[in-house]
Amino acid sequence: MENKIYMQDQKFTFEVSKQQLELVNSWRKDHEAQKHNNQPMYVGAIGGTYAWHFTSTGIGLLVSCHCACGEAIDVTDIDSF
Ligand SMILES: [Zn+2]
Repeated sequence: MENKIYMQDQKFTFEVSKQQLELVNSWRKDHEAQKHNNQPMYVGAIGGTYAWHFTSTGIGLLVSCHCACGEAIDVTDIDSF
């Protein structure tokens, strides 16, 4: 999975590893069962229940996935620091 953001002439690319995606998918499955009773969460006509956050720091990239309810999982790859 890859997200690309274009700002004027610069391109920023954020990548999520297979391991990070598996962690998020496993968390989402448990989270939806425990917090949302496996019911779809309405957040608008076009969806968008989950948001990825990428925070560039001086020592590495912080990566997390946030549910619209406010809960999140941090899947930062500390080994990449
Ligand atoms: Zn939630």
